[in-house]
This record gives sequence, structure tokens and C-alpha cells, in this order.
Amino acid sequence: MSPRELARLATLAENGIPLPDKHLASQGEGLIIGATGPPGAGKSSLVDALTAEVRRRGKTVAIIAVDPSSRTTGGAILGDRVRMQRHHADPGVFIRSMATRGATGGLARTSAALSQLFRAAGFDFIIVETVGVGQDEIDVAALADVTIVVLVPGMGDDIQAIKAGVMEIADIFVINKADHPGAAQVQHEIQAMLSLGHGTTIPAIFQTVATEGSGVPELVNDLETRQRKLRDPKSQTWEIDHLGIAVRSLDEALPFYANDLGLSVLSRETVEHEKVNVVMLPAGASRIELLEPLDSDSTIAKFLEKRGPGIHHIAMRVPDLNATIRRLEGAGARLLGSPRCGAGGHVYVFVHPSSAGGVLWELIQQ
Ligand code: ZN
Repeated sequence: MSPRELARLATLAENGIPLPDKHLASQGEGLIIGATGPPGAGKSSLVDALTAEVRRRGKTVAIIAVDPSSRTTGGAILGDRVRMQRHHADPGVFIRSMATRGATGGLARTSAALSQLFRAAGFDFIIVETVGVGQDEIDVAALADVTIVVLVPGMGDDIQAIKAGVMEIADIFVINKADHPGAAQVQHEIQAMLSLGHGTTIPAIFQTVATEGSGVPELVNDLETRQRKLRDPKSQTWEIDHLGIAVRSLDEALPFYANDLGLSVLSRETVEHEKVNVVMLPAGASRIELLEPLDSDSTIAKFLEKRGPGIHHIAMRVPDLNATIRRLEGAGARLLGSPRCGAGGHVYVFVHPSSAGGVLWELIQQ
């Protein structure tokens, strides 16, 4: 596809006109990266440095740049013009500026349409660059495979202010301008913040000096690994982690498993917030999980009342829980709540039986 043709299709997508199927037929292998952060974090410089590094490796980049401030100041348009001049003659870089944003959800919809177009056009990396951490950015993060939140030293209380939004969306934190005093402090604050939260996967943290390119190759290594994992099903491991079995009484049920079958008891514990006593028995690479209700309004008690003792859920280990959740949500599957942290440091989420052929699935990432 020629750059001119691509630009024409991008304009159609921006105007909300559905693209002809033939332009989206190829799924592409490109990684969609959301990049956001407060103004002044050097996000554009970072995207530039990323682009340069990715080009050095012979891969291609499409950039969708969104800046709400451009509507009034024209700043982003000027910045993008400079950037566009630099990559002007390079067919491996395609830049699309979105100078204004529409109604809520409009930005995400347009970004999604453009990302899909660029991926189908064969770009290896598609970067959606936004400013701040508002609802629009959270919507954009939901469509991205990976979301990078760019921070800088000396933000002071600002890091607290954006904390809530950041917790939800960051797969990677980049502390840019890491040669400035206070980089270690920001890193410390992020780590402290993460240790408090019940986030999904634990985000990676990188320090960069975008204007010099330092730290950028490490970041690109990480992005390439994520792309390989996401796009190559062979590199992923899917395994049954355990079978959850609801029993009325552990003391009555356990002898069959422990004595008669001869399984060993790996652990016996009480999970207060689920109101259950849990016994784990290893069975090969998987485990049997026996669940006894602590009181009558626990989920397990209700299950026993309705269905009687038996298999309550099946737990599957997935390589990338976030990616799996995005795929499931995209397909309209019903998840029970958001991901939570388990006692063993793993993250898990449940999929409603109505979306899974009548079986309650627990998805786990270590
Ligand atoms: Zn379980």
C-alpha cells in the first residue's frame, strides 16, 4: 500500500467511514502500543527515540499522535511537523496526527480504526500517543496490546494525582529524563504504589534519556519480547493449573483424596475474603483444590445449595492474563469482576459459565 493510499484510508477512518474489508483482511502481526503521560514528560522525544531504534532494527512504525492542547495552541501540530520532516523520506515510518478529539469514546474509536488499518498494512509497531491520564487515555489503553506510562523526575505530588488512572493502565513505566536528580525517587514511588495495589500484572519499569537514546534499546527489547509472545501462540504455555471441587466438609472429603487416592496435602488454609477453607493436593503439574465454605453466604455455600458438591471451577494458567482478558472482552465474554491478587503472588480472574459452555473458568497468571 502506498503512503498516499494509506493516508487516504486513514482520513476515511478518522471520519468514521467503515473501511472496505480488503484493507483490513490481513490481521498483521504489529504490536499496538499506547504511550501516555503528563505534559512535559518528554513523551514525544521518547516516541521519536523508540522509532529510531526500531528503524535501526529494520522494523516499521506507525504513529498516531493525539494532543488535546493542539486544539487551542497548535503546539502538537508544530511538533508533529518537525517530526514528520525528520521521517519524511522514510517509508518505514507513517505519522498521523489527530489534532482534536471528539466526544467521549470518539478518540478511542478512531484510534482503534486507525490501529487496525496500520496493523493490516503490515507495520510492526503501532504507537498511539496521548497526553495525560483521563478517560480517553484509559479507553486507548484498553485497545492497546501494551501501555507505556511516561513519567519524569521532579513530579512531586503529580505522581499521586495520576496514581489511580496509572494503576489501571500501565504495563510499562518509563522514567524519562533519568539523568535528572530524583529518578531513583520516582522509581521508589512507583514501586511503593505497585506494592499497595491489587493491579493485574506487575508493570516493568525502565529508565531512559530519550534525547540521548539511553535506555531505549532495553525498552525496545522488552516490546519485541511482548510482540513475540502476543503473536506467536507456540511461545505461550496454557496449562490446567487446578480443579476446584466444592465439598460440604473437608474432614469428610479429604480422606478419599489423601488416603484412598494417596495424594499429598500441599497446603491447608483459610481464605477470608472468599470465606473458604482450601486444601491443595498436587496431581502432576496440576492440583486438586478442595473448597469448604466458612459460612452460609459464601459463594461456595451458595454453589453447594444450588448444585450440590462437585466440580466448582477449572483453573487455567495463561501466559499473559491482560492480553487474554482483552481478547475475551473484545469477544463479549462475561468476566466476574476484575483481576485480583492471590496469596501466592499470582493474579486471577473468573469467566462466567454463561460465556464458557456452562463451566466456571478461573484464569491465572503467575
Ligand atoms: Zn481455584
